[in-house]
Amino acid sequence: MRLVQLIYCSRVVAGVHGTAITSIVDVSRFNNTRDGVTGALCFNANFFLQCLEGERSAVNETYHRILRDPRHEHALLLRYDQISKRQFGDWSMGYLSSQAMAPDLLLQFGSNDRFDPEQLGADAALDFLLALKARSIRLREAA
Ligand code: FAD
Repeated sequence: MRLVQLIYCSRVVAGVHGTAITSIVDVSRFNNTRDGVTGALCFNANFFLQCLEGERSAVNETYHRILRDPRHEHALLLRYDQISKRQFGDWSMGYLSSQAMAPDLLLQFGSNDRFDPEQLGADAALDFLLALKARSIRLREAA
């Protein structure tokens, strides 16, 4: 089995928020569990940043389906790698809260404290999502 990891970002289409995001996360969890795809999705009012991991054809099919979705636009592929081990293996689609996206984390990976994934390089995009995942878990444990 060829395991791959794909990271992309895209722009949120105006009017997409709240319940639309919840429905994206719900459908993603259902489909990704079925397809053996794991990963993480984070967003704010302007951007999505998502990592998909799994068997190569499953990740490609999922990505192509996502690209056709009218709820976002201007998708930009940031990273595509063959991997030996999943880094979001415990998440069918971890939803990373904007609460975890604190200014210090944004400054660590970007040139300012705004969430602008189009500015991230391939390694920074992955490192940012992993840092966000670690912080998100800590926040949940502390709650
Ligand atoms: P159908 O439900 O048959 O949809 C047909 C078409 O309508 C598709 O183009 C679909 O995108 C679009 N559509 C569906 N619901 C709506 C709606 N409420 N409003 C507007 N258009 C709609 N899916 C996954 O399986 N895994 C993921 O990890 C994943 N991540 C996503 C990340 C982002 C940022 C976005 C925007 C979507 C994501 N999706 C994900 C959803 C994905 O784009 C598809 O909607 C979903 O996989 C169902 O596809 P389908 O062709 O079977 O859907």
